[in-house]
Amino acid sequence: MSADKGVVVVGSANADLVVRVSRHPAPGETVLGSDLEVHPGGKGANQAVAAARLGARVAFVGRVGRDAHGDLLVGTLEREGVDCSELGREQGAPTGVALIVVGGKGENAIVVSPGANSRVTGPEAGEAVRRIPEAGVVSAQLEIPMEAVLAAARAAEGVGARFLLNPSPPEGLLDEDFAREVLPFCDPLVVNEHEARLLARGSRQGSAAEGGQGPPEAGVQEPPEAGAQEPPEAGVQDLAGRLLGLGVRSAVVTLGERGALVAEGDRRVRIPGVPVRAVDTTGAGDAFTGALAWRLCLAPDLVAAAHWAVRVGAAAVLGHGAQSSYPRAEELPHEPG
Ligand code: ADP
Repeated sequence: MSADKGVVVVGSANADLVVRVSRHPAPGETVLGSDLEVHPGGKGANQAVAAARLGARVAFVGRVGRDAHGDLLVGTLEREGVDCSELGREQGAPTGVALIVVGGKGENAIVVSPGANSRVTGPEAGEAVRRIPEAGVVSAQLEIPMEAVLAAARAAEGVGARFLLNPSPPEGLLDEDFAREVLPFCDPLVVNEHEARLLARGSRQGSAAEGGQGPPEAGVQEPPEAGAQEPPEAGVQDLAGRLLGLGVRSAVVTLGERGALVAEGDRRVRIPGVPVRAVDTTGAGDAFTGALAWRLCLAPDLVAAAHWAVRVGAAAVLGHGAQSSYPRAEELPHEPG
């Protein structure tokens, strides 16, 4: 990285192995599928590519195997201009893969095998971040070991970088010890609505166990049943407040086509979605998060960064796939109004 501040992604890289079927097999059954498609993926790599394609300086900290999938992932990241000097090649494990079976109606069944992603250690992640003093934002997800995420957060603080956590998959944050340690570094915590509700529920259980000292529960709603009406805006605002109650410095909740919500201190700012004709929403959240990290390198205003990231998320649903649909800056739709 040069003297300009950039994004350091500490995260996962997977090969997405996709087969389409007319219907999913039952346990013990075999069905014939389409030709295999292999796409670069993993939340870390997706977010790195999203930021790089927008013009960001990006370095990637993680691990892939010494195999063909690893070559594919490193090659893709380097072609996008991502600095891979801290992306290790693991001898003892294959590159992570996501086995994705897409049913006739587009419904996905996914198995993730973390492989080399699970070999990223805390000391390695921390040292890698400290070797990149130009880091403006260090961005992590939960597809690598928690100790590596925590080490990245501490190292970010040490080099004066902002730490962004996209806790996906969110189950890791239900580990109370990890949550207690990592959440105070998060500035922001970036979650989609489903993740936000899961974490808010977990916090409510936790606060009940501690004698109910958490924020008031009124307005925090359970995930809507399929076909239920959208929750009222008040519920979403309370949800953001509850996320702040977890101890993070700031929070951003993405709301799909409805845009996003930013919460910091007493401030709650709703950012409307950009109306577009969505083709495939796969990886929209990663596009949003990569874009947000990049804008926060340029200026600390979280609301302005989220406005921009909402446009990037909207552009990312216009094409099929994840990385393949991520936009360049000049391809962004305008905000409504
Ligand atoms: P995730 O992909 O993690 O579930 P979301 O569905 O909340 O996350 O989407 C992330 C962002 O992508 C949203 O904040 C929005 O900017 C954009 N987005 C997602 N779906 C749509 C859509 N149908 N129309 C316009 N923008 C969308």
